[in-house]
Amino acid sequence: QAKELGRNDYQHYAQALNSQSTQRLALENSLYQALERRELLVYYQPQLDSTTGEITHMEALVRWQHPQLGFISPEVFIPLAEQNGLIIQIGKWVLQTACTQAKAWQVMGMPPMTIAVNLSPRQLKHRQLLQTIKHTLTEIGLEPHYLELEITESATLQDVDSTRSILTDLQSMGISIALDDFGTGYSSLSYLKQFPFHSLKIDQSFVRDLLTNHQDVAIVEALLALGRGLNIRVIAEGVETVELKNLLETLGCYYMQGYYFSRPLPSEEATKVLMLKGSKVGSRE
Ligand code: C2E
Ligand code: MG
Ligand code: MG
Ligand code: MG
Repeated sequence: QAKELGRNDYQHYAQALNSQSTQRLALENSLYQALERRELLVYYQPQLDSTTGEITHMEALVRWQHPQLGFISPEVFIPLAEQNGLIIQIGKWVLQTACTQAKAWQVMGMPPMTIAVNLSPRQLKHRQLLQTIKHTLTEIGLEPHYLELEITESATLQDVDSTRSILTDLQSMGISIALDDFGTGYSSLSYLKQFPFHSLKIDQSFVRDLLTNHQDVAIVEALLALGRGLNIRVIAEGVETVELKNLLETLGCYYMQGYYFSRPLPSEEATKVLMLKGSKVGSRE
């Protein structure tokens, strides 16, 4: 009996130890099927010019509607997909879906806007990236200057030379490159002159406490000055309140994205926002 108890204890212990990796494995397995089972969705969040209320960009953000577990955050499954390589297929699908949506909006007569798609480091290293993007745009009939690709600093850090050459090729096709989560990575400022960035996205972590934190104000002011000096558009992420919007405008930041304007929306709702407001989102959802 004692032995059995002991074994049970061990099993519980082992289970507890393993549950995390077991969960991970289970999640990974179902992620393989998520694409073909159509459990992935693309949501769209407006980025706007706060002076005019005009939507300049829509950012595509992938969602996973798991049949049992409900919505799983991309913060959870994108890193998984990045590790096991599935991000290549998922990324291709997101790109295709987002560009198709952008084209559909154009055909519906919406004012022109750029579709912003996140690229993970692994996609950036993938040999067929350029070909995939070219092919996708041609097939859909979307002009390259309506596409912006968002990459993070960690992506630029891996193999600087080949990253620069890929980004330069993309830029010469007419595609814009945005540096996402700016300020949270480890890259040196000299990267800003080595890579052809069209936009810098100030990370939410600098925006969130802007009203109360003097250090964040100093950092955001410095990033804005940097953007002005380098002629790179600077946009603030995570703008949740009108007070934040006003403060950012006072600091000279006029491009914004955040819950104050709109949460990421499913395709039909995003379309409604575009139609109702004639591409202008002035107030809270
Ligand atoms: P990100 O590209 O920096 O996207 C911004 C994230 O902030 C999104 O989270 C968005 O929903 C959230 N957000 C927007 N406005 C606000 C706000 O006012 N307050 C707060 N608290 N959050 C706000 P989401 O959709 O959960 O995506 C998280 C991250 O997952 C993204 O960060 C991006 O790194 C990654 N991701 C999402 N979709 C894709 C994709 O298709 N491909 C790749 N490679 N990564 C993706
Ligand atoms: Mg992004
Ligand atoms: Mg970001
Ligand atoms: Mg982020």
